[in-house]
Amino acid sequence: VQVGRFAIIVHGGAGARGAADPDRNTAGCLAAARAGHAILQAGGTALDAVQAAAIALEDDPVFNAGTGAALNADGDVEHDALLMDGATLRAGGVGALRGFQNPIVVARAVLDGSPHCLLAGEGAARFARAAGIVPCADPRALITDNARRRWEEERAKGFPGLRGASGGTIGAVALDRHGHVAAATSTGGLTGKHPGRIGDTPLLGAGTYADDASGAASATGHGEAILTLLLTKHACDRIAAGAGAQGAVDSALSELGRVHGHAGLICISAKGELGIAFNTERMARAWIDANGREGVGFGA
Ligand code: ASP
Repeated sequence: VQVGRFAIIVHGGAGARGAADPDRNTAGCLAAARAGHAILQAGGTALDAVQAAAIALEDDPVFNAGTGAALNADGDVEHDALLMDGATLRAGGVGALRGFQNPIVVARAVLDGSPHCLLAGEGAARFARAAGIVPCADPRALITDNARRRWEEERAKGFPGLRGASGGTIGAVALDRHGHVAAATSTGGLTGKHPGRIGDTPLLGAGTYADDASGAASATGHGEAILTLLLTKHACDRIAAGAGAQGAVDSALSELGRVHGHAGLICISAKGELGIAFNTERMARAWIDANGREGVGFGA
């Protein structure tokens, strides 16, 4: 194991403050950051670290990913998730996946065991089962009372959240001791989305990107705005052009005005600097920096 700088930052989604409990959100983010950090500390890879952080957040019902995911117009869960390895530029993702507790684990199987970057729908589920990943015995177990209540409220209003950020998507980016970066993002998407809709999360350069030559970034917010602008690729390109991590996410965020979008993103440069930016009321986040210091945030 080479001794180098390592760090991790995670987010728990950008959106309106709403009824979200700041303490529950930041505690969930910090627990996930610690899970990833333990892997980095032991000399593990950034890819394994962001996966571990994403699993912790998917399993926390507070977040719009894994258990607790937002419901589509039919009231069903369809997950999007992707992870990308900055060392190899390999990525694995799933779109509109039904019936698995941890979509990020299916995404990892795509990265490790498929010649493709992104699988969607029933084909993705078939791939997961063939890879030995056990589907939920009852997919309704993924639906929390909160997600159902929110769906009913939004439906009564005609699903207005489709034009804004819904909040609670999760993401993680990390730098490991070997100088490699990785990014992971996972979501249920926007409440009331059309069945089959795939957002920014599993699209390379939109919701998720990682490249050792620059850094790694994960976005959250209004998916159609994020993917129109390729926000995470924009941030990584700014780093490659000489910007710091914070300057890179600020630059990406400033693009959002062009499409009147609401979003946020986190980023880590290959040097280990962290960047955080959002134009929503909140984006829960937690980090453990290259000096081992922990931090959390919720609002601006
Ligand atoms: N970006 C996600 C999507 O549009 C939602 C979110 O981040 O809250 O699917």
